[in-house]
Amino acid sequence: MKLIAALAVSVSLLVAQTERPALYSVTAVRHWSLSGVTRVAIEVSGDFRFRSDRLHNPERIYFDILDARPRMDSRRFYSEDLDDKLVKRIRAAETAPGVTRVVLELGGDVEASTSQLANPNRLIIELRGTAAGAPGPTIVPATAPALPAVVRASPPKVEPPAPKVEPPAPPAALPAPPVSPVEIPKAAKHTSTGNNSLTRALGLKVGRIVIDAGHGGQDQGTEGPKGLLEKDLVLDVAMRLGKLIEDRMGAEVIYTRSDDTFIPLEQRTALANEKKADLFLSIHANSSPYPRIAGIETFYLNFSDSKEALDVASRENASSQKSIFELQDIIQKITLHDKAEESKEFAGRVQAALYAFSAHNVPGEKNRGVKKAPFVVLIGASMPSVLAEIGFLSNPREEALLKKPDYRQKLAEALYRGVTRYSESLSHFQVAQK
Ligand SMILES: [Zn+2]
Repeated sequence: MKLIAALAVSVSLLVAQTERPALYSVTAVRHWSLSGVTRVAIEVSGDFRFRSDRLHNPERIYFDILDARPRMDSRRFYSEDLDDKLVKRIRAAETAPGVTRVVLELGGDVEASTSQLANPNRLIIELRGTAAGAPGPTIVPATAPALPAVVRASPPKVEPPAPKVEPPAPPAALPAPPVSPVEIPKAAKHTSTGNNSLTRALGLKVGRIVIDAGHGGQDQGTEGPKGLLEKDLVLDVAMRLGKLIEDRMGAEVIYTRSDDTFIPLEQRTALANEKKADLFLSIHANSSPYPRIAGIETFYLNFSDSKEALDVASRENASSQKSIFELQDIIQKITLHDKAEESKEFAGRVQAALYAFSAHNVPGEKNRGVKKAPFVVLIGASMPSVLAEIGFLSNPREEALLKKPDYRQKLAEALYRGVTRYSESLSHFQVAQK
């Protein structure tokens, strides 16, 4: 009788699995310990739904990724002890057919906020310690307005058993944590103009980078002859670049937008200042009335009398109310010598890396070089800030290339090289590279 019951259960499990095949894979669980904040990223192979709840004794939060199976470096489960105040342990396993549960065992009173991001699809969980006397763990929904809806089904109160087999896996089989910068004392290099400006003299290193995908929402930016929109292209490249920076540099990435939302230009630098970012990189695509014009150029903020540069600035400033004349005036009045010098250097590294990439991939590509222009999005940034124009959407050949995911990935790799080369030149901390 018992045997029959067991058979019946396994048959019904089989049926359940055939009826609802898991659509996605949970491909990695990553974590970062930052000052006062611990961040966990659950990477999923598609546009997933999830639910979450907290459990006590011991304190823990779980996230059920629905219609997904664990496939982390071909592993079906994951478990890692963390040397972290807020999260003691993370484990993941398929706890019901097609449901991957990721459990965070907490180290005390912890507040968690989540955001679901695309490109790649992932769930980011940010954990912070709550003030003394505050209630226990709470899950605060993401504040960003346009994030996909969070599924909040009522979860079972009894947590399914933890993954049975939990041998400490060899390090190679675990999703790699971010590489922390290897501290190799190194004299600050001089800028190419021979100056040793303040940023360098202080030996500051890059720990936080704002990546600004241009335009968004009703502001579409420019459009290619085949309909590729600047706002979509630059968002994808920005997310790819951010992932490289997080994975390989271990630096913190802040996106001005991670979806198709309109963000006023002034708000973008304000965010960078507020978050005390070390670098600000704005990504755009170019346009020209002449379809044959092609190539890559990188800008830093300054007043300019080049008509071409002013044309680019006018287009990129279109969503702002300020005229180019007002901007030139504002820029002339503010002292930006040190920042202009650093930004020019940063732009030089980004442009060199971008051009090396495009010269290799696009025969006959012209190096349009580093330029200065009055961009609203760069005004008021208190860190080195540049704007990269990654190609001309008005050029049909470049539009076709910019549509390809692997070309976008290579572009992101080139931008990444620009960022690391600038970071390396900046201070006596050499940034480790995988
Ligand atoms: Zn643009």
